[in-house]
Amino acid sequence: MSVRLRELLMGLRDLGLKNAPVIVHSSYKSFGDVEGGADTVVKALTSVFETVIVPTFTYKTMVTPLTGPADNALKYGSGTDLNRMAEFFTPKMPADPLMGIIAERLRKHPRARRSSHPIQSFAGINAEKILARQIMTEPLGPLAALEELNGWVVLMGVDHTVNTSIHYAEKLAGRKQFVRWALTPKGVVECPGFPGDSAGFQAIISEMEKYTRRVKIGLSNIHAVPSKMLFREVICCINNDPLALLCQQEDCERCNQVRLLLRSEN
Ligand SMILES: [Zn+2]
Repeated sequence: MSVRLRELLMGLRDLGLKNAPVIVHSSYKSFGDVEGGADTVVKALTSVFETVIVPTFTYKTMVTPLTGPADNALKYGSGTDLNRMAEFFTPKMPADPLMGIIAERLRKHPRARRSSHPIQSFAGINAEKILARQIMTEPLGPLAALEELNGWVVLMGVDHTVNTSIHYAEKLAGRKQFVRWALTPKGVVECPGFPGDSAGFQAIISEMEKYTRRVKIGLSNIHAVPSKMLFREVICCINNDPLALLCQQEDCERCNQVRLLLRSEN
């Protein structure tokens, strides 16, 4: 049984988010079959939500320089082969496949606009003011704007490990941010404010439970959390335990860097 537009509309309305702006992170495959494909999901999102943004990050613009700041979880000069494969950022560059096909289709929607960060761009509909909050020193500014507007994070068939808003809250909690570099037509551009690793973010689920709204559409489990409560809970977690939400992978460079800095501070 394919999911139809009508079920998508009803399911998304059942979240009860009214006119709140949303950021959507999604797995198209999580729905099972959708009649009309990913564009049907985009149509549902743009019909139900007045303002919707998606991450359209472009990691293939990233290059590693020969030298750079210390404590940056990066082996300088190690990226020679990858550097050769890097591509110049252009506004029409497709979103990284990690963003999912729904994000990419929304980017191509005739009413969509995209911000111009060479690594961490966002695309959105009716979201010009939110997108305008992104500047080079504040790449996740649109997520701050969303929080101020009482926005919601909608996770469609994905969990908090892809919830970019948690990164912004980490930054507010004082967690270490990194520097990365991107290839652009104007040359290599330094991109400060690059966040840490998100593999440990699912740990926030218990704190967020009381604020979480859930619906099921087709095979996809959809959940939505309010940005404001998310920021509050993440900041609270990190204040209580500076190691909160880090991943357990032994070779995770960014999480290990955060641990190392905390140890040197104590
Ligand atoms: Zn990690």
